Amino acid sequence: MNPVAENLNAVTRTLPEGVRLVAVSKFHPVEALREAYDAGQRLFGESRVQELLDKRHKLPHDISWHFIGHLQTNKVRQLVGNVDMIESVDSDRLLRLIDKESAAAGVVSRVLMQVHVAKEDTKFGFAPEELIEWFGAGGYTSLAATHICGLMAMASNTDDESRVRADFHRVAELMARIKASHPDLCGFDILSMGMSHDYRLAIAEGATHVRVGSAIFGERQY
Ligand SMILES: *Cc1c(COP(=O)(O)O)cnc(C)c1O
Repeated sequence: MNPVAENLNAVTRTLPEGVRLVAVSKFHPVEALREAYDAGQRLFGESRVQELLDKRHKLPHDISWHFIGHLQTNKVRQLVGNVDMIESVDSDRLLRLIDKESAAAGVVSRVLMQVHVAKEDTKFGFAPEELIEWFGAGGYTSLAATHICGLMAMASNTDDESRVRADFHRVAELMARIKASHPDLCGFDILSMGMSHDYRLAIAEGATHVRVGSAIFGERQY
């Protein structure tokens, strides 16, 4: 078996029923994705718009693509309609633009709101309190062509497991809190968190989707 297929199987075997694997293939060549595809993987995550579109064009059409990187507003139009989920909505402005472009294109975009809980301050996303306020203000009720399906987050980049777990726990609690105060939010049930080094902890805290790259495809050559 090729190494990608072997790694993929090793990761897949550890996932409980109901947890979905987003194979993060950014910076890896189409051939590597093809190996994962041939081993059964149908959900891939990419962080750059042009790279996602190129790969999507070259690979079979039954693949689901999730965009997971910081999305620049000038790239929204290219992405909308070409992706199954935008996991990384990190501002109200971006969300409004996705909604506008989706309506114009006659599609409904599925998105996750990105939450910032990691201790690093370079990461994008809403602070938990900010997101509670945003939902409280009913910001989601005026969307015409966008469905908010849940939350996405990254934990602190540290070897301190208790810190990582606490970060994931905080996001899971935030999700539960938002759901409880907004029973009209339907289909709000995806919790995307956990990467190669911490996805097991994320699952223990309730992740429904894990985004695993290097554990499947090896180290990235930037
Ligand atoms: C790159 C990336 C991942 C995957 O990281 P690995 O450590 O390679 O598993 C997950 N989520 C996001 C948002 C990423 O940018």
